Amino acid sequence: MKVPMLDLHAQYEKILPRIREELEKVFSNHHYIMGEQVKELEAKMEKYLGIKHAIGCASGTDALVIAIRALGIGEGDEVITTPFTFFATASSIWRNHAKPVFVDIDPKTFNLDPAKIEAAISPRTKAIMPVHLFGQPADMEAIMEIARKHDLYVIEDNAQGIGATFAGKMSCSFGDIGTLSFFPSKNLGAMGDAGMCLTNNDDLAAKMRQLRVHGENPKYFHKWVGLNSRLDTMQAAVLLVKLDELSAWSEGRRKNAAYYNEALKDIKQVRTPYIDPRAVSIYNQYTLICEDRDGLMKHLNEQGIGCAIYYPLSLHLQECFASLNYKANDLPVSEMMSQKVLSIPIYPELSTEQLEAVAAAIRNYYK
Ligand SMILES: *Cc1c(COP(=O)(O)O)cnc(C)c1O
Repeated sequence: MKVPMLDLHAQYEKILPRIREELEKVFSNHHYIMGEQVKELEAKMEKYLGIKHAIGCASGTDALVIAIRALGIGEGDEVITTPFTFFATASSIWRNHAKPVFVDIDPKTFNLDPAKIEAAISPRTKAIMPVHLFGQPADMEAIMEIARKHDLYVIEDNAQGIGATFAGKMSCSFGDIGTLSFFPSKNLGAMGDAGMCLTNNDDLAAKMRQLRVHGENPKYFHKWVGLNSRLDTMQAAVLLVKLDELSAWSEGRRKNAAYYNEALKDIKQVRTPYIDPRAVSIYNQYTLICEDRDGLMKHLNEQGIGCAIYYPLSLHLQECFASLNYKANDLPVSEMMSQKVLSIPIYPELSTEQLEAVAAAIRNYYK
């Protein structure tokens, strides 16, 4: 039984006819940049998340770059973030000429550890940038309290957490700005690159709308140096169809997670994901902490079962950030997790037989 890490064939099977219809509408007027579907998607996303402004852009990475720039963060400023995340979280700070300051993670949730944030705050700190890793929101109650106390902005990197909630509140709605990625493998994926910024703040929304078009307002008059970062009309058309499915897909992922939680619970060598009782995860990934991780990975691959390491090297130890002068053991939890984590297939179209095959293969390895 083959079980891929993600099966886009299965995902698109049912919805391709509707996507074709929606794309035909784009071909009927050829408004490829900022067409009708972009505005429609933004409105639909505002409603889905209950956030006042959605601003589509070209990728989740660009959404972060735009968010940081909109807050006026740049040269000489510091942004506190997690080292256990995808590269773009930190590169977006760097690309705005600010300095990423990495704070270690909570070993239970893999998210930024609020108890370690205050020690990292300096007079140059401008913002905290938590990531809702693997679909589980960071502890936004604690993080917002620290941010208010020290007068810091909060940017939520929600590339992996669309629709996840914390204490009954939607991710992306806690901080000043939240961002989304529609990279094809995310829970809501486009047929290419796309992203979005979200905010309840009218002024920030207006500025981000300008920043995505070269910082111009009106046309050919530039108050800021912005980006060329629009969300393609064709991608918006695809996402409009897929957004209707998202809640059901998230529910499917949670059901699969519940299956694994039960099926793997008595295997001593693996720890299934811990979800904070205040959080509802959308399981962008289902990530185990394992003994002999590399051996298990090899075993699963031999059985035709997909799995992946998110992430094999903490960002503070990446070569490109050598000038920040971090060294091994500076952030021990993150570094340890990069040696122990393994994500297994969790996509909603998994069949019962596939779920059983994954669980059986893990069980057999440790027997
Ligand atoms: C995917 C991802 C991004 C970047 O999104 P792109 O659309 O690929 O540019 C940023 N942060 C996190 C945590 C991600 O998982």
